[in-house]
Parts: sequence; structure tokens; C-alpha cells
Amino acid sequence: MADFTLGILGSGQLGRMTIQAAADYGISCHVFAPDANNAPAGEICNTLTEAEYSDQNALNNFYAIVDAVTCEFENVPISALGIAPDHILKSPGVKALATAQNRLIEKETAKLLGIPTAPYWKISSVSDLSDAFNTLTLNTSNENAILKTAKFGYDGKGQIRTKSDDSPEQLWQELNTDLAILESFVNFKKEISFLIARNMNGQTEIFPPTLNHHENGILVHSSAPAILPQSVIDAGCHYVEIMAHHLDVVGLLAMELFLTEDNTLIFNEIAPRPHNSYHWTIEGCKTSQFHHLVRSVSGLPFGEVKTSRKWHMKNILGQSVSELQSGYSNTNSYVHDYGKAGPKIDRKMGHITYFE
Ligand code: AMP
Repeated sequence: MADFTLGILGSGQLGRMTIQAAADYGISCHVFAPDANNAPAGEICNTLTEAEYSDQNALNNFYAIVDAVTCEFENVPISALGIAPDHILKSPGVKALATAQNRLIEKETAKLLGIPTAPYWKISSVSDLSDAFNTLTLNTSNENAILKTAKFGYDGKGQIRTKSDDSPEQLWQELNTDLAILESFVNFKKEISFLIARNMNGQTEIFPPTLNHHENGILVHSSAPAILPQSVIDAGCHYVEIMAHHLDVVGLLAMELFLTEDNTLIFNEIAPRPHNSYHWTIEGCKTSQFHHLVRSVSGLPFGEVKTSRKWHMKNILGQSVSELQSGYSNTNSYVHDYGKAGPKIDRKMGHITYFE
């Protein structure tokens, strides 16, 4: 599809891997980001606009040359996607992006659709927080909770684990925001993610579930397909499907859920973009999550999402960047170096996928 140009808002590793997949179909990519030079997507894209997301002129010029646009991170300002002219296909769509940007809206949407959530409270002041702690103690046998900023949280940032005897004043000061959510702590046995691809005609494909392990709020390891009772797989597939239709997603939608001892799935959050826990699909599925994203926005038919092997994905963070080397000498490993300069603590520098 040499005549098709995909616009990408953002310049991180998810954009980079989308560009790599698009290249397989002869599709060129134009990256738009404020800090795109030498960034993972900016350094390998066909063309580049380095400008602020508020720069209307630059956005208009960008939309004059692309055929579709996708967001490679969910905190892209809504207006940057929203001002795209009608003839340009918008992925994941304004409704999906706005929902994923606000943890309160996200949770309310899950509740509306009948997807179980942990008890949660909207917090916009110290007194909201004291009240929520009181209700938490009265209504649940669990005094542990997590206080999260409603917006702009990622990889465990913008969240504090709390106990109901913590000082609300101190917590509120520490979180330093005007809108937050207090979530009751879920004593889960597993963390699972589901991923759906949905195209402009509403057709869908659901990838096998992935089992995830986080440390300090950051994903460190995923394995797939997760071995789960069929009833859990059916419920997870149903939840991600109804959410994708409700939000009218075009592209990808990942849903992170907790699995409790009694095999109940509890909603955690959504991400309307490629998801770290599905990087294993690059080698593990005939048509990866990135290929599905490109197909869904360019009108190409969906591919195969089944896998016949057990896959693992290990994230390589700044503090352990030397581990990327070990992947080169293992015959069952695939190394992905995002080309980021300057390894920082907890910064995702690359990942290694391997099979059993
Ligand atoms: P999040 O950014 O909301 O996905 O949170 C990052 C990680 O923190 C999750 O993957 C969980 O490991 C943990 N976490 C978040 N919310 C809860 C919760 N309500 N109960 C237990 N663990 C949680």
C-alpha cells in the first residue's frame, strides 16, 4: 500500500514497533511529536514533524498528508486527535482516548457495562479522602487501598498505597493533584490482560490472554497464553469486546484485570493502543498486535492471532540494560532494543521475547 501514509502522534517504542509493522505492508509513517528527534519512533519513521501538540498549523499540515492517524500513547491531548478532518480515520477515536485518560471515567464505564470493579471513591479534597477512608473501613474487611491521580498516571507513577489510618492531609499533599481516585486494594492471585483489535467496520479479533507480573507498578514479565479456566477466558473476552464496541475503538484496546482466588475478574484499566504485555505477539502470532493495528486503520483484512507455543516477554529497564546482551546468545530469544539514548532507572530500554 505504497499510497497510504499512517500518521502517528507520539514517538515512543510503541510507535517504533508500529512503523516496523507498517513497513511490511509498504505503508509509510509520519510521526508527529514535540520531542521526536532521536526518539524510538522519530528515528526510524519515513517523515517527521517535530512540534507541540497544541501547534494547530503544524497539525493541519500533518493532517494534509496522512490518510489515518493513531496515538501511540494515551496521554496525547484530545484536541490534537480531535481536530483531524472527518475524512481521516482516527485511532483509537476521541471517545476511547478521553475515557482512557481519566481513571474515574474509565471505572464508571466499566461499571456501566457490568464489568466488576473494586470499590472506589472520587477524591477531590482532603475531606473526600477522610470520608472515603471511613467508608472503606466500615464497608470492607480490607483497609488497604491505592490512591491514584485521575489523569497522567503510568507505570506506577502518580499512585500511593495507603492504609486507612494514614494521614489524609499528608497523602493529599504527597499526591499533589486536584482529582484522584481511591481504590480498595484487590488481593488478586493473578494479573491478566486481554487485547482486542477492532476495525472501522466493527470487526474484531481477540488475542490469547496474557499473564503479567509487575514490580513497583511496572510490568516486568509477561507470559502467554495464560492458562485459565475457560469461564475466565470467556468473561475476559466478553469484557474487552463490549468495551471496544462501547468506545467505538478503531485499532487496539487492551484491558488489564485482576483475577481473585474465586476466579472473578476485576477491572483495573484500559489502554487503547498496543500494549506492553502483547509484545510477544511480534514473534508469537502470525499477525502481531502492531500488524493488527496497521491493518485495522488501513482497511486490510485481519490475520491470525492464535499461537502454538508458550511465550515469555521480559522488559529491559534502564538499571538492567546490559541484560539485552544475554538475549543475543540464546537461540530461542528475540531482542528488541528501542534505541533510546541514556538508560535511566525504570525507563523501558527494550524487551526480550523467548519461547519454551
Ligand atoms: P495501574 O497503573 O493502575 O495499572 O497500577 C499498576 C499496578 O499496581 C497494577 O498492575 C497492580 O499490580 C497494582 N495495582 C493497581 N491498582 C491496584 C488495586 N486496586 N489493588 C491491587 N493492586 C493494584
